[in-house]
Amino acid sequence: MFIYLVGYAVEKRLLIAVGKNIKEVFGFDVRFSHINLPPSLGYDVQRKQYRARDLLNYLSRIYYPDMLKLVGLFGFDMYEEGLNFVFGLSQLGGRHAVVSVYRLFDKREKVFFERVYKEVNHELGHTFGLLHCKRPGCVMNFSNSLLEVDAKGKFFCEKCNKILPKP
Ligand SMILES: [Zn+2]
Ligand SMILES: [Zn+2]
Repeated sequence: MFIYLVGYAVEKRLLIAVGKNIKEVFGFDVRFSHINLPPSLGYDVQRKQYRARDLLNYLSRIYYPDMLKLVGLFGFDMYEEGLNFVFGLSQLGGRHAVVSVYRLFDKREKVFFERVYKEVNHELGHTFGLLHCKRPGCVMNFSNSLLEVDAKGKFFCEKCNKILPKP
C-alpha cells in the first residue's frame, strides 16, 4: 500500500522532500500522482482563496487499489467557512487530506520545508483516526499559527504513534 502525493503549484523539490518525510515518519512508500483539477474549483473571487472543503471533496473521488492515503499539496491559500485560512483539512479516519503551503512559507528553505512536513503529517494523522494531542512536541498538537507550527515537531508522540498502522 502506498501513500499518494499530488502537488498543485508547488515546487518539485518540495514535493520530493515531503515524500521522503512521509516515508521516514510513517514508513509507507510514496507514489507521486498527477490529477487535474477543474479550473478555479473552490475559488472565491472576493477572498482570493480556495475553499479547502471543495478541494478535499474533489480529491476524495480519487482512489487507487494500492492507495492507503492521498495527500494534495497546494501552493495557494485555502480557507474554511468561519476561518480566515486553514493550513490543511482532512477526513478523520478517511483516506484523503489537503494541505496548503501558502502561509507556511519562509525564506529559509529548511524552516519552510519543516513546516510543510508537520502539516502534512498532522493531516495524515487525522486520516489515520488521530485526534489532537497536547503532548509537547507531538505533531498532532493543534496549530493555528506559524508560532504553533514551529513549536511542535514533525513526529508523533509515543501514544499517537501506537495508533498508527505499521507498514
Ligand atoms: Zn488537526
Ligand atoms: Zn500525540
